[in-house]
Amino acid sequence: MNRREVGRRVVFWDFDGTLARRDGMWAGALVDALALLGPTDVTADDLRPHLRGGFPWHRPEVVVGPLEATAWWRRLSARLIGAYRAVGVDPDTATAATALVGEQYYRLDAWQLIDGARPALQLVQAAGYTNVVLSNHGPELPELVTTLGLGDLIATVITSALVGAEKPNPMIFEHARTVSGAGADCWMIGDNPIADVAGAESVGIRAVLADGVYPDARGMTVLRAAEHVVGTGARGA
Ligand SMILES: [Mg+2]
Repeated sequence: MNRREVGRRVVFWDFDGTLARRDGMWAGALVDALALLGPTDVTADDLRPHLRGGFPWHRPEVVVGPLEATAWWRRLSARLIGAYRAVGVDPDTATAATALVGEQYYRLDAWQLIDGARPALQLVQAAGYTNVVLSNHGPELPELVTTLGLGDLIATVITSALVGAEKPNPMIFEHARTVSGAGADCWMIGDNPIADVAGAESVGIRAVLADGVYPDARGMTVLRAAEHVVGTGARGA
């Protein structure tokens, strides 16, 4: 036996925009939290410009190290309060709404799987790959993946919040490779050309751009990306 390859065959999957999407994304969650406190005419479009910075993944060069969930949300709270204040929400309401954002962001019924996501996961699993989610996300992503019904297809969920490093920082890719026991035959599939594709390639992980949900897609659908991995993997390195 002269195979030099050791370790598992792994496909790392981005989450948002690749496997699933949340209505309105973060801005949508802020609106939902605010609406719980009373009628509001603030919209996701109003809030979106004020959420373009200040999240951990906006500064991937900064490695903070592992955080507990409460500490992660505490670090983010000033940014969320600031976004509410910027659209005219009073300070007390902004603070109260911020405390509800996490629960709203991860509310199951606000999420939907992207077309082809489940068949894509099944295809690579059937071909002998282990599926691992590798996402710039908050602390509650593992629970969301399970409640979305993907637990049987995904072995491990790695969220940047609990690692303390963000894609495309090489540190989170190295962490992912280590904890998943990945060998040379591993891939990254994601919708972000920088965080997912360039980040993975910078540490020698092959990557496929799967941004097929967007009208201006430059890459593949998620199912086509899975077919690409299986096809290329079968020809083998
Ligand atoms: Mg994404």
